[in-house]
Parts: sequence; structure tokens; C-alpha cells
Amino acid sequence: MEKLLVSSCLLGMATRYDGKSKKSISDGDLKRLSEKYQIIPFCPEIYGGLPTPRVPSERIGELVKMKNGADVTENYKKGASEALSLCLTMNIKKALLKEKSPSCAKYEIYDGSFSGTLVNGKGVSAELLTENGIDVYNEDEISLLLNQK
Ligand code: SF4
Repeated sequence: MEKLLVSSCLLGMATRYDGKSKKSISDGDLKRLSEKYQIIPFCPEIYGGLPTPRVPSERIGELVKMKNGADVTENYKKGASEALSLCLTMNIKKALLKEKSPSCAKYEIYDGSFSGTLVNGKGVSAELLTENGIDVYNEDEISLLLNQK
């Protein structure tokens, strides 16, 4: 069965910065995904060494900074590297990742001002996976994953 890396918070795991999950996959879709893919939960920020809960972070160019000014770029890079390593080791070619996250976003991230302003851009892990040929989908693109042969 084909494998699918999934942002753990989308599955209901409490790995977000605020100590909560962001379960955005309906039970029906999760069942259908599970029938088609072996689900591999993963949270890059946890694997990057950050605690839960944690101070929120945003990308500022190539850097990632917490709201308190702490530079956590290396944590985000490590999480991305761990995600890629897992994909390569387990032959995972697709990932379903959480939109708007500084790690997982496919299309939109917050602009680094912590004012809730979105800009076009990818999370650090989504970017590295895409650069290495992993097909990334967000939570609004589950139907694409389900309809593939
Ligand atoms: Fe979810 Fe990704 Fe944030 Fe982890 S890093 S909590 S998987 S959005």
C-alpha cells in the first residue's frame, strides 16, 4: 500500500504551538484515506526539538522567529530534514500537510509580523519536501489524493 506522510495535528494529535490539534480531516475522509494509503503521522516542529505548547513562530525570509524574537530557524530546518529523511527511508512520495503553518504550509504563510497577515509562501518542511520530489497536498486537496489511481 502506498504511504502518505500526514501532519500529525490534522489527525487530531495535540502537536500545535498552542498545545491543541487542528483536526481538519473528516472521519469519512480519514477512513477513505486509510483504505488507500498507509498513514504516517509526522510533526516537523516536534522532530525539530521544539516543545508543545511553544511560542508561535513565523517565517521571515530564510529565517524563522518566535513571537518573542528567538531565532528557531535551526529547529525548523532540522524538522524539515527529518521529514525528508523519513520520506526517503520509507519510500514516501506524497504528503498531506497543514496549510498556513511555518513548517507545513503549501501555499500561504504568515508574513512574520505576527499580525495575522498571510502571504504566498511555503513552510520550511513543505518547501524541502517539494524540492526533493515529494508531492505535497494541503487539507483542502484531500479529494485529489482520494481520486488518484
Ligand atoms: Fe501541525 Fe505541521 Fe504545526 Fe506540527 S508543524 S503542529 S504537523 S502544522
